[in-house]
Amino acid sequence: MELTTGVDRAREPGGKQFPSLYVEPEKAAEEIDWPALEFNDVFKIYESGSARTVALRGLDLRVEPAELVAVVGPSGSGKSTLLALAAALDRPSAGDVTVNGRSLAHLDEAGLASHRSRSVAIVFQSDNLWPELSARENVATALRLAGRPHPERTAEETLGAFGLSERTHLRPGSLSGGEQQRVAIAAAAARRAPLVLADEPTGELDEKNEGIVLRSLADLRDRFESTIVVVTHSDRVAAACDRVIELHDGKVATGKDAP
Ligand code: ADP
Repeated sequence: MELTTGVDRAREPGGKQFPSLYVEPEKAAEEIDWPALEFNDVFKIYESGSARTVALRGLDLRVEPAELVAVVGPSGSGKSTLLALAAALDRPSAGDVTVNGRSLAHLDEAGLASHRSRSVAIVFQSDNLWPELSARENVATALRLAGRPHPERTAEETLGAFGLSERTHLRPGSLSGGEQQRVAIAAAAARRAPLVLADEPTGELDEKNEGIVLRSLADLRDRFESTIVVVTHSDRVAAACDRVIELHDGKVATGKDAP
């Protein structure tokens, strides 16, 4: 399934009329007792002409705050659809998706845009960064578009927290694939997005660069207390997560703790 590009996402209006959906991450782990993300009996049916595809058929799942969860499953099992619904890029046909205890079903288009802008960050397989901007300007621009204060300073500090102080002036083309993904993950951290959705973030990387991304995701969870859902085909990524959710034919097949 085709999701929007980083540039499109960042241009979404950052409406402020639904602030209650946004929970500061530092509060999220301590004060709330609701799940960071929950799907309750969710169905998604795509219809075009006479064709009808049931992508999700009664999906139930619950992800706790500051949990790093892998979603695995064969092609067509509904992984991208799950991400799209969690990101509020699409609505379920039936059932309920909640983020930080709030149902997305009650939000109008402006509310969904606010959710996307304030509560969610998406990291794609590649091309998460503007190629003509330095790492610092990439993060600062994402912050500016999200209406966050002190974008330059926050970008510098966050890239430093991810061990990229020496790389902030470089454009993506001068960074390794793993470093580019680390900058994208740092941008999610800088935005203080409570829920980070990663779609095959190591899909185009070798082992070394995959290791960089794995450390970045762990840093994001441990230092910024983000809740992270990673769709992956990589056994190594799945094994590094707190828990693995396996989809099969639009439902959870098994939920097992990673070794
Ligand atoms: P995965 O990410 O696990 O490969 P998807 O969520 O992309 O699975 O797709 C689940 C099912 O829904 C597949 O049969 C796919 O062909 C179908 N599907 C996904 N997006 C659309 C769409 N926009 N229109 C019609 N069918 C779709």
